[in-house]
Amino acid sequence: MVPSSAIKQIQRDGAGFAPAATWLDFGPHAADLLVMPDASTLLQVPFSPELAVVMGDCFIEGKEVAQSPRAVLKAQIAEAQKRGYVLKSGVEAEFFILSAQNDSISDERDIQSKPCYDAQSMMRRYALLADIVKTLNACDFGVYQTDHEDANGQFEINWHYRDCLTTADQHVFFKWAVKTLAERHGFRATFMPRPFSNLSGNGCHIHCSLWSGEKNVFEGKESISDLALQFLGGVLAKAPSFCAVTNPTVNSYKRLNGAATASGYTWSPNRVSWSGNNRSHMVRVPDNDRFELRLADGAVNPYLLPALMMACGFWGIDTKADPAKCSFPANVNMYEIPDGSPKLEGIASLPRNLIDATRALESDKDLSALLGADFMRAFIKLQKLEWADFSAHLSTWELMQTLDC
Ligand code: ADP
Ligand code: MG
Ligand code: MG
Ligand code: MG
Ligand code: MG
Repeated sequence: MVPSSAIKQIQRDGAGFAPAATWLDFGPHAADLLVMPDASTLLQVPFSPELAVVMGDCFIEGKEVAQSPRAVLKAQIAEAQKRGYVLKSGVEAEFFILSAQNDSISDERDIQSKPCYDAQSMMRRYALLADIVKTLNACDFGVYQTDHEDANGQFEINWHYRDCLTTADQHVFFKWAVKTLAERHGFRATFMPRPFSNLSGNGCHIHCSLWSGEKNVFEGKESISDLALQFLGGVLAKAPSFCAVTNPTVNSYKRLNGAATASGYTWSPNRVSWSGNNRSHMVRVPDNDRFELRLADGAVNPYLLPALMMACGFWGIDTKADPAKCSFPANVNMYEIPDGSPKLEGIASLPRNLIDATRALESDKDLSALLGADFMRAFIKLQKLEWADFSAHLSTWELMQTLDC
């Protein structure tokens, strides 16, 4: 937090942090990490107008911190620019509104087994939702829809897609604003991938299109263009290895491989497949101008998600990746195809847990080259620490299963 009297100084020198405290793989001996504000991102906060939020870039001793997620994204944006392209993206960051006291769903009347789009449950949280939407629109988000999602207590707010750096910065602001406003209204908001085992989890779908000037080069005639198909081919081929980034927590794998939900579907994928306007696959092509990756969850880093799309997409273009082998006709319900079915021959599965995902990421040399060795080393180290911490945790389940052994 910087008082207005210090803005000039911080703009010139940066805001100082101890890098070891930032999870970016530094020791306590490392020199100061300085965040240089990116003034183009400044947003006056509508609900606290004396406050402004600004995004920034991380530097140590004059050198950009290569493993910081905004730097990883900017490197991909530079690569896109070299190729003459801009990636435009839109995200759907689902969240639950919980009670601040006990982390259960805040609305005790929101109990239908299929609550999606329920207007009454939405009206009981209207004051908070309207506050969020007004905040976003005062910041030029271009919100066009808010709805009650598929789980009790779950909501989604949709705003207009932009160039992927703007969307990533907006995504950071969005999560902060939703959580802050929920607290002001006496609730708690969560983007946790699967907070309730009987309900759908929080996805974070990303819609992608690629632009050359005013032209969306993903736009095809009936479906997306040949270039978009190669880009998509790269994303599909690398999904099992980048899952540790799009689904970065232990809990993420309860969304991807979790129990059935009260509403009937999880709406999340467990295999690498795609089709047309069909929500049972990992990738959906809702129109002839974009594709939607439905894999990522609420824990994904807003910068790493579009960075992965470009890294894998351009790799797909360079290697002429062909997505045809994971494609299904639009009328196939992926959830009805059982494991072991011949229809799944050649269809890759997604990792079952965080350590499998982390090992898949670690062994993918292409991704290391595309995203940078510094990022890869730091990220994998963090994920392994997370898994070790989880493994050391003694759970109620273990006690129930094993006390009487
Ligand atoms: P759905 O629930 O059907 O997946 P939503 O309306 O919830 O769709 O979200 C769609 C997202 O995709 C929004 O952020 C929207 O702005 C974005 N979007 C729409 N067209 C494009 C496009 N051409 N390129 C990138 N994003 C797009
Ligand atoms: Mg949506
Ligand atoms: Mg949704
Ligand atoms: Mg929709
Ligand atoms: Mg979607």
